[in-house]
Amino acid sequence: MKTKYTLAIHGGAGAIPPTIPEDQKKQYLEALEKILKYGNNLLKKGETALRTVELVVNKFEDCPLFNCGKGSVFTYDGGHSMDASIMDGRNRECGAVTGITRIKHPISLANDVMINSKYVFLNGKGAEEFAKELGYKFKNQKYFDTEKRYEQWKRVQGSDETALDHNSEFAAAPKGTVGAVALDIHGDLAATTSTGGMTNKKWDRIGDSPIIGAGTFADNSSCAISSTGEGEEFIKNVVAFDVHALIMYKGLSLKEASEHVINKVLKKGIGGLIAVDKDGNYSLPYNTLGMYRGVATSKGVFKVNIWE
Ligand code: ASP
Repeated sequence: MKTKYTLAIHGGAGAIPPTIPEDQKKQYLEALEKILKYGNNLLKKGETALRTVELVVNKFEDCPLFNCGKGSVFTYDGGHSMDASIMDGRNRECGAVTGITRIKHPISLANDVMINSKYVFLNGKGAEEFAKELGYKFKNQKYFDTEKRYEQWKRVQGSDETALDHNSEFAAAPKGTVGAVALDIHGDLAATTSTGGMTNKKWDRIGDSPIIGAGTFADNSSCAISSTGEGEEFIKNVVAFDVHALIMYKGLSLKEASEHVINKVLKKGIGGLIAVDKDGNYSLPYNTLGMYRGVATSKGVFKVNIWE
């Protein structure tokens, strides 16, 4: 029986300077460590990669520190609108949702789109009708409010500013999109990404996180990927699929392919990704000041980090 597994997680890339307050650093590292430990135990016990990455993202969605589920950023209108996607490396089955406003665990709804519908991508009202049919409990929008995200939004409320405006001071606001990718002991890969998107986003803007091939991708023949950063650039460059394509068609290693896309294809300061391949190798490159991330393997690697 095979015993090799690898889990990589991220809690967002962005302008996270090494000078952030010690207590903030500690809070994030502790949260990452706890979530990584939880996922590591699941994989160790033989849980599938698919179920593990969903459950790991549920933990992130419950944690107010990260920009997904409970800690989602505020939109231009002062609400919350979440996006998520999941992909199964065994068969390229996938599910995605966008514009989710009242579901606690958008990643689980994406998983249900994959498993319990004939579609792969559902939007807003329709996605929530589907959730209702499946018996999901609905949260009040207030549930997703957090003090920190409210303050971030207040600074730009009423303006057109988002983190996409590089000249604005606001570009440096903490991010926090999350993702998890894994290889399980059965030799299967899976990937997930979940987000509240960009603070002050307008007109039902959708980023890369729910877009298969940009924010999320998994195929047992190559790797599993979850992206984080400026979604528009990840969509234009089809980032997650590009890593897969470089491995498949050019024979690059996971490290070479993922570093090429982050450092050569994307402009500096745009974001990062986490990747695990079919042999259990991992790569966590980013081109921003920092990225909240972690990795655990069956060989005993267990680390969380923001820089390096
Ligand atoms: N990629 C996400 C988006 O554009 C944001 C992030 O990763 O911080 O919605």
